[in-house]
Amino acid sequence: MHHLTEEQITILKQALLSLRDKVLSSAQEQIKDPSNITFEGGDEIDRANVETGRYISLQRIKTRELKLLRKIDYALYKIETGTYGICESCGAPIPFERLMARPVTTMCINCKELEEEREHE
Ligand SMILES: [Zn+2]
Repeated sequence: MHHLTEEQITILKQALLSLRDKVLSSAQEQIKDPSNITFEGGDEIDRANVETGRYISLQRIKTRELKLLRKIDYALYKIETGTYGICESCGAPIPFERLMARPVTTMCINCKELEEEREHE
């Protein structure tokens, strides 16, 4: 059984879905932002540079946003399969408050801290 109520799950699902929308629209805005594209004149070399620069900035946005989108989709998948809110490391229930603060989290605070300590070693 689950430590989260159906209502809490619904709230968290909404939070994840609106986060997903936010990430998608911010990625689209960055792509549309004219400051990313400073194409002037018709020189072939300039054109190539602009295209490369634009490509690199798109790639950067993609990597960062995609990483978050994958986490969001994964969290939504876990909601569907009923494993959401359970620490992937120790199996402890993750408190609703922590999930609300960070809906994509997959670990309880203890395991997360242990993991961060390991990363700093
Ligand atoms: Zn844990």
